[in-house]
Amino acid sequence: MTSENVTMQGPVCPLPISHYDHIMLGHGSGGKMTHDLVKRLFASAFNNEALAAGDDSASLPLPAAAQLEGRLSFTTDSHIVSPLFFPGGDIGRLAVCGTVNDLCMLGAEPLYLTAGFILEEGLSIEILQRVVRAMQAAAIEAGVQIVAGDTKVVEKGKADGLFINTAGLGWIPAGRHISGSLARPGDVVLISGSLGDHGMAVLTARGELGLETGIQSDVAPLNSLIAAVLKAAPNTHVLRDPTRGGLGTTLNEIAAQSKISIWLDETAIPVSPAVRSACEMLGFDPLYVANEGKVIVILPAAEAQAGLAAMKQHPLGQSAAKIGEIKEGSAGRVQLRTAFGSTRILDMLAGEMLPRIC
Ligand code: MG
Repeated sequence: MTSENVTMQGPVCPLPISHYDHIMLGHGSGGKMTHDLVKRLFASAFNNEALAAGDDSASLPLPAAAQLEGRLSFTTDSHIVSPLFFPGGDIGRLAVCGTVNDLCMLGAEPLYLTAGFILEEGLSIEILQRVVRAMQAAAIEAGVQIVAGDTKVVEKGKADGLFINTAGLGWIPAGRHISGSLARPGDVVLISGSLGDHGMAVLTARGELGLETGIQSDVAPLNSLIAAVLKAAPNTHVLRDPTRGGLGTTLNEIAAQSKISIWLDETAIPVSPAVRSACEMLGFDPLYVANEGKVIVILPAAEAQAGLAAMKQHPLGQSAAKIGEIKEGSAGRVQLRTAFGSTRILDMLAGEMLPRIC
């Protein structure tokens, strides 16, 4: 882990960090305080060979199956969620899962992550430890390693506790072609579960609404679910996680990329009763609320049953459903057959509905 780079010596230092309760500007100096923070907190939690080498960048082995076959997927994301902890997750779990999931959406096997921390002076070390432990737990759950990182400290008032940037590297096996541009007329649209849980969990956790909903964020790494889907439905055309902007915005992106139209059946789209009633009360449409543990799968009709069955057998896909199909004509348009039998156009979300959600 750089910032600047620390060579780990001897056994891993136990948490907690001595001397300090809060982040101080000196923790970003690159000097002894930075070294202590990196060594005692980050390096001990994310303990692995590449990080322990203490070089300027991580030297990483290729996965055995990759040899010189296939392609790499590479992504980055910044996380600024408020509050840092919410029902079902926290900024650390979100950072790891968000990046793992973006790699998976190309059918990649996620391998390595980096983590860059922008820390606000005065942040409690105990909060930082909780976040780092959540990141490590999520990394173990997803089977990835956090192999490089960076820490910077900004003055009080210049950040909101902490921000995390993560980058991720994955391996796409040879012959696997999955992209938002590959939806074809006749394809079927599946969703892995109920919509809107993450956005509504974070929003209600802010406490400003005085609303007790019990809604939990769905934040989760999707790689094992997607591996199961691709095993059952190897000719899957599109995978995409409906994060910011929700299902409505994400499907509009796919419709535009693939130059096709998407027809949805409103009654088939899973939304939990708690999310539905919270959305009704607050004037939100759950089809535009963010998810962090759901995937849209678009695949040939011949593989739809197998793909859906694979999702339903997975713990993260139990309420998976077939929600629509791909048609020719009206390229770029998403249309919804409503419960009342009418049709409405589901447009891309205009502006920001829920800021600081991820
Ligand atoms: Mg995504």
